[in-house]
Amino acid sequence: MQTVTVLGATGSIGCSTLDVIQRHPDKYRVFAISGYQQLDKLMKQAKQCAARYVVLADERQYDDAVQKAAQYQVESEILCGQKALEEVASAPEVTTVMAAIVGAAGLLPTLAAVRAGKRVLLANKEALVMSGALFIEAANQSGAQILPIDSEHNAIFQCLPDNFQYGDLPASGIQQILLTGSGGPFRTRDLATFDAITVEQACAHPNWSMGRKITVDSATMMNKGLEFIEACWLFGASVDDITVVLHPQSVIHSMVQYNDGSVIAQMGNPDMRTPIAHGLSWPARIDAGVEQLDFAKIQALTFDTPCYTRYPNLKLAIDACASGQAATTRLNAANEVAVASFLEGKISFTQIAQVNEETLNAMEPMDVSSLQQILEEDRRARDIAHGLVRGLI
Ligand code: NDP
Ligand code: MG
Repeated sequence: MQTVTVLGATGSIGCSTLDVIQRHPDKYRVFAISGYQQLDKLMKQAKQCAARYVVLADERQYDDAVQKAAQYQVESEILCGQKALEEVASAPEVTTVMAAIVGAAGLLPTLAAVRAGKRVLLANKEALVMSGALFIEAANQSGAQILPIDSEHNAIFQCLPDNFQYGDLPASGIQQILLTGSGGPFRTRDLATFDAITVEQACAHPNWSMGRKITVDSATMMNKGLEFIEACWLFGASVDDITVVLHPQSVIHSMVQYNDGSVIAQMGNPDMRTPIAHGLSWPARIDAGVEQLDFAKIQALTFDTPCYTRYPNLKLAIDACASGQAATTRLNAANEVAVASFLEGKISFTQIAQVNEETLNAMEPMDVSSLQQILEEDRRARDIAHGLVRGLI
């Protein structure tokens, strides 16, 4: 029996996680769930999964949360604030933590789970992008098992030799990791019309149903850029070991190419319950409630090379990855500000990449190693990005 904390339970990944867990009451029980703004949803979830703790991200939410809990007759204990998130991620009773808070806000609770040696199901890619070296070092020290939930990384994990994680790519006969991406809704749109892209258009992903931030990241392909950085850390890869491949149908979720010419791909319907179930049950397999792939219905699998003029954010991320931790932390921070500003209607779609690039250019290269430095670079980059956004309004 695994005892699970679901950080970010009210989100897209959180809901899918609770859905998979609910199918296997003999294997998983819920210890804690966390949410931020969707209080009603969180309380309904708490009632349904009988969570012992319900955690709100902000301490000021306590009174509202207690009131809502009474309204929904929720018996779970209510906790609030950053420290509480870290506590339920590292409590001794917990075996498994789903890290599905979006953005930098998920870093500290995810790190707490890693340091406590949990099985960490990592959806929150921004945490790894920000703190890669520290994160992997903490996992090595504590013995935490990091299982990638991002569908591409979960696919790569499945295509690599058993127990490869943090292994040696060339020694395992691996030539390349092929990171696939659909290219999002604007793969064929006329570049001259990119300035007119609306929030609604950017939030309509052709294949996947996800939270708003990652959906916009998919449209700019910053998501693939963050995933590029994520893959480097998870699989001990360098920038030259990974090639991004456009694959609009999202049937193949990524591939590993071996020296002997073999390419191993992982396929499935685009439903996050597959990687979530894989992470929960690894090395076993469980029913995820996902519709099986029907090859009779797939007309074609096509592939292409991404163009950096269309996807400048992808190039920024790959360059930041080559540059190091300060650049990846800053880029992630700038992008969170830029995407939020786009969603609020303050800047245009093309200005997301502009804010990201100008933020990076405004900051001197430096080495960062401690958590304090990382948080400081994150804060500085946000300040600069906010300033740039104000200048654009
Ligand atoms: P959602 O926006 O759907 O959910 C985000 C979750 O985080 C919600 O529970 C939200 O609470 C909570 N949250 C938001 N802001 C804060 C904050 N400041 N402090 C604490 N909690 C907060 O996102 P997704 O589920 O789509 O994505 C979650 C993570 O998983 C992201 O890092 C994303 O990149 C990654 N991921 C997602 C995939 C997907 O298919 N959705 C695929 C691969 C990776 P509330 O809603 O109550 O405000
Ligand atoms: Mg992904």
